[in-house]
Amino acid sequence: METKFKTQVVSDEILDKLSLKNRYSMLNNILMPIISPEKFNLLKEVERFCMRFEKKNNITHGPNEDIYNWMGPFGKQGYLSRSRAYEVIDQNYEQYGLVADFIRFLPIDMFDTQFAFVTGANVLCINPLYFHHENIPVRVEALREVVTGDAVGCVAITEPERGSDAVHQLTICEEQDDGSYILNGDKVFQTNGPKAKWAITYATAEKNKGDKMGQFLVNTSWDGWYCERVNIPWAPKLHLGKEKLENLRVPKEYVLGPTGTGRDHLFEGLVDERIGIAQIAMSQCWGALIHAMIYSNIRKQFNQEILKFQGVGFVLTDLWAQTTNLTLGLIKFCEIFDEKVEKFGGADKIPEGVKQAMVVLASQLKYQACNLSKVVCYESANLMGGAGLSDNTLIHDYLGISRIQEIVGGSRQIQQYIMSMALRTLYKMSVK
Ligand SMILES: Cc1cc2nc3c(=O)[nH]c(=O)nc-3n(C[C@H](O)[C@H](O)[C@H](O)COP(=O)(O)OP(=O)(O)OC[C@H]3O[C@@H](n4cnc5c(N)ncnc54)[C@H](O)[C@@H]3O)c2cc1C
Repeated sequence: METKFKTQVVSDEILDKLSLKNRYSMLNNILMPIISPEKFNLLKEVERFCMRFEKKNNITHGPNEDIYNWMGPFGKQGYLSRSRAYEVIDQNYEQYGLVADFIRFLPIDMFDTQFAFVTGANVLCINPLYFHHENIPVRVEALREVVTGDAVGCVAITEPERGSDAVHQLTICEEQDDGSYILNGDKVFQTNGPKAKWAITYATAEKNKGDKMGQFLVNTSWDGWYCERVNIPWAPKLHLGKEKLENLRVPKEYVLGPTGTGRDHLFEGLVDERIGIAQIAMSQCWGALIHAMIYSNIRKQFNQEILKFQGVGFVLTDLWAQTTNLTLGLIKFCEIFDEKVEKFGGADKIPEGVKQAMVVLASQLKYQACNLSKVVCYESANLMGGAGLSDNTLIHDYLGISRIQEIVGGSRQIQQYIMSMALRTLYKMSVK
């Protein structure tokens, strides 16, 4: 069996106390007063599955485990996405919506944060497929595969020369007489790219023209899709892709959005995407924080548990307060969003003005949650001293993955840019 670490530096007692079971127990006691009994049951259900899965498969979270092998088993349980019920593929979950999705995600992140991130990127392929399947059999089948984990999905927006400026693409799509499209261009940084069977990608009929964009579903085994792996040292188990699209033919039934509709299709998933990243970031905060909480209650220096020194205890309480408060804010947002979806009969039916306000709120949450993850994961590891920097515990994975959160899904500066534009609109609406 592969071990997590090369050489043990943390005591058996501490490693034992940092078990998944104990970390879940801490999380449960923290969340019990915050979430409804119904959601608490979902939390415990996912936790039970993760604990059994870890034990049964001798998972140590060591460096050579392939986390992509876990997509199938988690997908079969309906644990890859709970943002909505997928009736069209008979995935009729009892609990779904943004709150349920957060509650599903938290224990998976605590089980393995790099794996959880992979499932988050998979959702970015699920959402557009769900919005635009139009009951076309090949699309419905692709949706079934990425929801149940039979196949992995990715989203390919970013290009080598177009990152933050995602709507001025250089990848070209040319419509053919039979309604198919030919795609040519380059993409980069696609989470799951090298492992994905299905990719959602974007291209434009004219370079740099956002209003000429189209949206496409691509089977990565088709001729003309070439992918190599990009290494992200902070999160070594993620497989990111750099792709070349060379005369890649997309048949008509795989065209999710013809030329002219791509930009709107890109924007329609923004709330889901940004809230998803905020949920990932907050889950990382809890995962890291609970490591430090358990560690500092056991580790002794100067004959005392280090928690009892104010330098440790007060840093920890500050991180805890910030994490609790932002979690409450995030849950409140998710509740409001779920209510709106229910009231208007779907996310796509929410009135434009309300939707715009939700986009800004989602940006605010993404911005702060990713910033907090960066701080909490680093400071939690720091409170664990040398142990926090070693490979003996999963805090090391949190330290790494929290470094990438501010870049994915629109960087910190881009969220600030969106918020400042919203502030201008707000001013014009309010001050006469
Ligand atoms: C781990 C990881 C996973 C990713 N997953 C995916 C994925 O699944 N699919 C996908 O398509 N892409 C993915 N990306 C790409 C990601 O979305 C981009 O890296 C991100 O949008 C930034 O683009 P860039 O790297 O080109 O940086 P640039 O856009 O070149 O930005 C460089 C710097 O300039 C700043 N900047 C840029 N424009 C402005 C502005 N107007 N005002 C102020 N500051 C600005 C940025 O904030 C940043 O600090 C991933 C990236 C990483 C690292």
